[in-house]
Amino acid sequence: MTKKKSVSAPRPATPVPARPQVPIEPIQLKCLGIGDGWASLDRNHSSFVYRLGTRNLLVDCGEPVSRSLKAAGIPADAVDDLLLSHLHLDHLGGYFMLIQGLWLEPRRKPLNVYMPAEGIEPVKTLLRTGYIFDELLQFPITYQPLKAGVAFTCGNARVTAYRNTHLDRLRAQFQAKYPQPFESFSFLFEVGGRRVAHSADIGAVEDLDVLLRAPVEALVCELAHLEPRRLFEYLRGKPIKRVIFIHLGRAQWSSQATLRDLAFANLGGIPCSFARDGEAFVI
Ligand SMILES: [Zn+2]
Repeated sequence: MTKKKSVSAPRPATPVPARPQVPIEPIQLKCLGIGDGWASLDRNHSSFVYRLGTRNLLVDCGEPVSRSLKAAGIPADAVDDLLLSHLHLDHLGGYFMLIQGLWLEPRRKPLNVYMPAEGIEPVKTLLRTGYIFDELLQFPITYQPLKAGVAFTCGNARVTAYRNTHLDRLRAQFQAKYPQPFESFSFLFEVGGRRVAHSADIGAVEDLDVLLRAPVEALVCELAHLEPRRLFEYLRGKPIKRVIFIHLGRAQWSSQATLRDLAFANLGGIPCSFARDGEAFVI
């Protein structure tokens, strides 16, 4: 008797436990203004919106930031936190019109403003001088002084401000007569284990050291106050996945082709972009 071959039913596949999906939200950067301190026909003054995890951060308030936000379709309640790197007016000048715009819109969500301590009272005074009283606003503004090397959280993002030397020469020249700290900061953003560095205005390439102690997904770096070749050579070999250049000096802006060639020749293969107003980057 032949043994009946038993045909076993296909065993149901052992269910593989689903790996919890941790969505890696890309970091996004919208450049509202990449210009330098000169008035320009084709560039706004410094302002940038970063999407970091669940949070939208506005970095610097160069003119015409209120208009640029509107043009970018960013509603009045969308910005969660505002960072001011220093008090040069191409980074601060749009703040007052921004607040007037948010008042009239009206914004209803609290706004956190992180800025150099020396500017907080003057900024409040100028808002009051322009009749933007707290009682008129339908949202509270909380001012926080930036503290060098002390991280703070914005939603699930971590922000660390580092002092840089951008205002050192001005301080040396004028502090005796104008006794204020002359603070200027660069920023490191961290979210989901990823890091992005934003130079803002700096005084020397060495100001970047502290931002690049660990690998960054992107360095958003100014050019106006630096010698380009020196910067590109400094960056070569650093743990940077890409560089986005901003804040080109007026002469640099008008000779971009030469600058790009110099960057490609000296960055040692680090991909780089030269941002334009309105340009968005997914990092
Ligand atoms: Zn500056």
